Amino acid sequence: MVALPNPARAALVAAFDREIVLAEVLITRHEHGFDLRHHLDRAPAEALRELSISDLGPLAQTTTAGRFRPNKAAPNLQRGWHAMARSEDDLEAALCHLYPGALADWFAGRQPAPPVTHFREFVNRQTGLYRVPQLLSDELATRTIRAGCAARFCLRDRRWTVAGLAPDDSVSKSLIPCLEPCALLLDLARRAQLLAQGEPVKIALAAADLDSLLHALDVALEQTAGEVREGDTGASQNPRRLALVREHLRSLKPPSPTPAG
Ligand code: SF4
Repeated sequence: MVALPNPARAALVAAFDREIVLAEVLITRHEHGFDLRHHLDRAPAEALRELSISDLGPLAQTTTAGRFRPNKAAPNLQRGWHAMARSEDDLEAALCHLYPGALADWFAGRQPAPPVTHFREFVNRQTGLYRVPQLLSDELATRTIRAGCAARFCLRDRRWTVAGLAPDDSVSKSLIPCLEPCALLLDLARRAQLLAQGEPVKIALAAADLDSLLHALDVALEQTAGEVREGDTGASQNPRRLALVREHLRSLKPPSPTPAG
């Protein structure tokens, strides 16, 4: 039986001359294959741990601290390794381990009409517990997406939208597109709606105090990175939850005065 060539893989191999960076992975073309490593590891290969292609699956599962990575496109891929893909088959297998689905999405994203599923279309087809995000207002959906899809949590370039929110700008994240909301974002959206249905607490804050709170949240976001399970949005200190609170507070900031003249 003759194996059919994968058009996505063929397009990727043709898309670069010497090297290409996909999210955090640098792929460098060699005479006998492709070298893969973290893009920040430009050291000679001898200085890095050599991994086989099959080692890349376990590598992508956890952070350096040993925490599970529910989103393989999160910017916390381990460093200090390299792997040689000796054929295009190997290259495809390596990318499947590191970024499942990314090769197909990259290829689809380059088509004249990429198959994008926007937020409303996506949540409206959910069932059971995950119907809750259908209730999000556009404003709350926007804050949730800004929080959950921020580059600090995910390097996929979001192509889908909700009313009032533009897609990502295609340069600040990576070449890997996000063509529809993922399970992590859906879970955060569900949490955001459930929290919004709770009894609100009203507080009056001076604008300067609001700035202090926003600063405190920036610090907390740095400090909780890697400490709380990423997917556990039930935890109030979950980084995506903190980012969502920050979006709520940002929306309260008075607009900056327009310069006179
Ligand atoms: S929905 Fe957001 S968090 Fe999920 S993969 Fe897409 S861009 Fe990343």
